[in-house]
Amino acid sequence: MLSNAALWLSSRLPQQCLACHAWVRGGPLCAACLACFAPTAQRRCTGCGLPLPDGYAGPHCGQCLRQPPPWQACHVWVDYGYPWADILTRWKLHPQPALARPIARWLRASPALARAVAQADVLVPIPLSAPRLRERGFNQAAQLARLLAPQKCQATALQRPRETASQRGLTRAARLRNLRRAFTVPVPALVQGLHVLLVDDVLTTGATLRGASRALLDAGAAAVSVLAVARTPQQ
Ligand SMILES: [Zn+2]
Ligand SMILES: [Zn+2]
Repeated sequence: MLSNAALWLSSRLPQQCLACHAWVRGGPLCAACLACFAPTAQRRCTGCGLPLPDGYAGPHCGQCLRQPPPWQACHVWVDYGYPWADILTRWKLHPQPALARPIARWLRASPALARAVAQADVLVPIPLSAPRLRERGFNQAAQLARLLAPQKCQATALQRPRETASQRGLTRAARLRNLRRAFTVPVPALVQGLHVLLVDDVLTTGATLRGASRALLDAGAAAVSVLAVARTPQQ
């Protein structure tokens, strides 16, 4: 494990852009690759975060119109693919400030994501289960929530005491019930009457975020929105 001084230094030394290998300071991607791999013009469904087809007028895709998610809005920055999958995996394996800080800075520079953070009363990261947290040593969603809004972050409001059992073979309703029970809100006063922004690194099926949203709403949160760095493409 690197010392704090070594981590501080490593975050300031020039490094090679992970996509084009140009020398760059202050981030894993150079400005040109950032513009290429984090397109700002992409419109997304405000329910599930998937890209909306060109010319589609409404804010929700057909699937979210038929089956609205429990959250008010979903904010996603990029698609989970090259080079973000690699960057997010590196970050998950090592609590590198050299990756977390630029990602938080880029997210704050997006007007839609900055608005989502500003409109929330409190930011709550999706917790790792207690055994997983012991194994990994840090939770990247909590690190991101703290970097996005240190004064609003309630890193322990939502807890996940144990690993969720395998969901294979269960009906959708049973899976949702399981995930809802997986999360607890030990101090409801931390979220009661508040607009909570749930923070996660990758949105895949949304099942985890659904379970966490229901637990927060059951505990008395006035509303929940979600923010994820990346969204896996349609399955
Ligand atoms: Zn580059
Ligand atoms: Zn949708």
